[in-house]
Amino acid sequence: MKAMTVAIMALQGAFAEHEQMLQRLGVDTFLIRKPEDWLRHKDGLIIPGGESTAMLRIMKDEQLFEPVRSAIEGGLPVFGTCAGMILLARGVEGEERERIATMDIVVKRNAYGRQLGSFYTVAPVKHIGQDVPMTFIRAPYIVSVSEGVDVLATVDGNIVAARQGNQLVCSFHPELNEDERFHRYFVQMIEQAM
Ligand code: GLN
Repeated sequence: MKAMTVAIMALQGAFAEHEQMLQRLGVDTFLIRKPEDWLRHKDGLIIPGGESTAMLRIMKDEQLFEPVRSAIEGGLPVFGTCAGMILLARGVEGEERERIATMDIVVKRNAYGRQLGSFYTVAPVKHIGQDVPMTFIRAPYIVSVSEGVDVLATVDGNIVAARQGNQLVCSFHPELNEDERFHRYFVQMIEQAM
């Protein structure tokens, strides 16, 4: 593996587990909380799960929204999980809010309902393998993708993971299970981009 540094948005939500997972893979990481953190060299970015509306508000308050958006637009490899996926989506059903909106997918928030929205399953993921553990927490899913988006996984007929160029997203929380394959796939994406 090439030496690389991955930045992790740490404004809100499940960022610490991503950090631990990448460190287990031997990847250098640092956390983004302030605009000055963003200036450090990075080969990739993780936007974690949490609450997309809160994360977006903090990104804006901290003047991180524009620099992050333009870096992703410029090709910085990014991995968005759950709320992170919502922020990357061009469209969210029934919502007009501004977002990073760099990926040609439309998502539905809290798609499994607010009460019974959390569950665990395993499913195959294209390019990654069989029986990938998937922890869903009030998760969104992808309702439609444009041409050029590679659908990586579906659960009960709904799209839960996809890739478009240097952007990788999933509905679930791969950082909350021991299985490292999803993060390894992102690391390979970064290597190819370097
Ligand atoms: N329900 C959250 C949202 O809409 C996402 C949940 C998660 O990231 N686990 O932002």
